[in-house]
Amino acid sequence: MAKTRAKTKAKPKAKIVPLNIHGGKLPPAPYSCEVQRSKRKTLALYIKPGKVIVKVPYQASRAEVEEFVQSNEDWIHNRLHEESQRQQEMLRIENGSKIFYRARELTIVFKEGRKRRILVNGDQFIIQGHKLTPAKAQEQVEDFLIDKASQYILPRARGLAHHLGVEHKITEIKLRKTKSKWGHCTSAGVLQYNWLIMLAPYSIIDYMITHEVCHLIHMDHSKRFWQLVDSICPQSEQYIDWLKEHEHRFWF
Ligand SMILES: [Zn+2]
Repeated sequence: MAKTRAKTKAKPKAKIVPLNIHGGKLPPAPYSCEVQRSKRKTLALYIKPGKVIVKVPYQASRAEVEEFVQSNEDWIHNRLHEESQRQQEMLRIENGSKIFYRARELTIVFKEGRKRRILVNGDQFIIQGHKLTPAKAQEQVEDFLIDKASQYILPRARGLAHHLGVEHKITEIKLRKTKSKWGHCTSAGVLQYNWLIMLAPYSIIDYMITHEVCHLIHMDHSKRFWQLVDSICPQSEQYIDWLKEHEHRFWF
């Protein structure tokens, strides 16, 4: 399984108690803060756009929670800032907006034309169609990426599996847009790739292909697994970092 986004734990069934930070020792803050109590043993902070979630044990006192939040104030502000920047950079398929395509920032241009097609010309990402609306254009970009993914990912995943002598283990290769994962491999031999990866440079796509195919041999993230990945894709660490930094720009 390849997951490079921040880990989101399964939501505990916790009582949600809003923390009234204005009433406590803390100065007013420009974000909402929510306290979730559960069976956990430690206190932890989670950042959502414009919102801070504090997960605390049932027995934690209000003062303890407030002190915890206060002592992490700088970290909270930095993370909120980062989150809002990420939010602004999210991909919107609209005429004139920016798209981060193959590591280059291009401008989306809607072009009137009977023929549906997508062209990259200089720094323009041209979406051509009849009476385009953002919804229609989005559908076109989806078809474009799915098409690219089936042309590129499917033969390369099979080719690599063949090279490693495990092609027979593949039962199916699925292309899906998932919420946060780039790829997935099941013990039944189903490989799954998120076709949004086609917005990334080929080196990144190849790393993703490699990662899931290597799971056909090692179903974990053990040392042996990473050794195998690195024997095929030596710069995997660099690609993982690149994805962590930029992946939020691919989801639409
Ligand atoms: Zn994995």
